[in-house]
Amino acid sequence: MIPLSQPNLSSRERTLVHEAIDGGWISGTGANIAAFEAALCRVTGRQHALAVANGTLALELALKTILRYEYDTAVVPALTFAAPAAAALNTGFDLCFVDVDPLTWTIDPLALDEVIRRKPTEVIIGVDLIGHPFDVDAVRAVAEHAYLIEDAAEAHGACYRGRSVGSLGDLSIFSFHANKAISTGEGGALLTDRADIANEARVTANHGMTSARPYWHEMRGTNYRMTNLTAAIGIGQAERWDELTTGRQQAAEGYDERLDDLFASGKLGRRPVASWATESCWLYTVHSAHREHYLNALRAADIDARAIWPILPDVPAFRHCVVKGRGYPVARRIAREAFWLPTWAGMPDSTLDYICEVIHAAASKL
Ligand SMILES: *Cc1c(COP(=O)(O)O)cnc(C)c1O
Repeated sequence: MIPLSQPNLSSRERTLVHEAIDGGWISGTGANIAAFEAALCRVTGRQHALAVANGTLALELALKTILRYEYDTAVVPALTFAAPAAAALNTGFDLCFVDVDPLTWTIDPLALDEVIRRKPTEVIIGVDLIGHPFDVDAVRAVAEHAYLIEDAAEAHGACYRGRSVGSLGDLSIFSFHANKAISTGEGGALLTDRADIANEARVTANHGMTSARPYWHEMRGTNYRMTNLTAAIGIGQAERWDELTTGRQQAAEGYDERLDDLFASGKLGRRPVASWATESCWLYTVHSAHREHYLNALRAADIDARAIWPILPDVPAFRHCVVKGRGYPVARRIAREAFWLPTWAGMPDSTLDYICEVIHAAASKL
């Protein structure tokens, strides 16, 4: 079976993990954590980074920190992996969905404007969907006073008008799950330029304690810490940031070349990229009204290609959050037609050849 994605770990990560084991620092305390956080600040240009156990908890931490300033409604795009929507509900926010833009597949500023007018909204979670940043400036223009959280879980290495993802929101988060471009197995990070928010998040993530007075809980906290072992992998991955992100982008370019004729004939569509965006491919994404036909052919050839997520307003966990009268037509069309092809850094040409041959054979039967 050709997998959908594969982590890419080198002898460097192995060495760093062995060093952490030999040194005995295996919990959420240890030098690797600060070093990994510093590396994340370097690659994104941010002032503060906080490494946590996973990307979903990074979102919850961001939302919890903001909640203390008495916000209560969060807006999430209708098309995304569910973590931002779940995180909003888990932290006690009201949840509102907004449609996506057909040219970026990310949160649609015009639809957002309409939603905000009807229901004043204080927190917006913009998702850099499948390696493509959302239109931050346009979102800011319609939601000047809202708190902007950037979910960059799927977009390590992408840029918005020359600015790195991870630096676009008041708070931004990464995931380092095994299928993400930069991976520590499980892992996540919260990034911000605001020292007060960073400090508060750090205290919350560490049982509400500060080093100034151990066991004196100034506030109720919890444990969101990343382990020093995980951070060892993170340091190795951060050192290889460009190699790993361009590696995926090279796989995408390999697909572009091989599928160009199908895009030209309209038998297949490629995920669009806005002129202001620098894409950093997470999973190569195409679309077709004949998605099932293509997926059946790929599965029969032992290739793990997959349909994209259903829209969140349709799934049982979030149905009750839907504002009546909204159909999310753009998100719905993409959710019906888009699918992912196997993508990882260092994908062999022969694998790309094989997958694209199967796709061509399927296309010729349409
Ligand atoms: C993967 C992902 C997350 C959550 O990351 P975990 O580390 O798996 O918790 C959040 N948001 C988006 C858009 C994701 O794709």
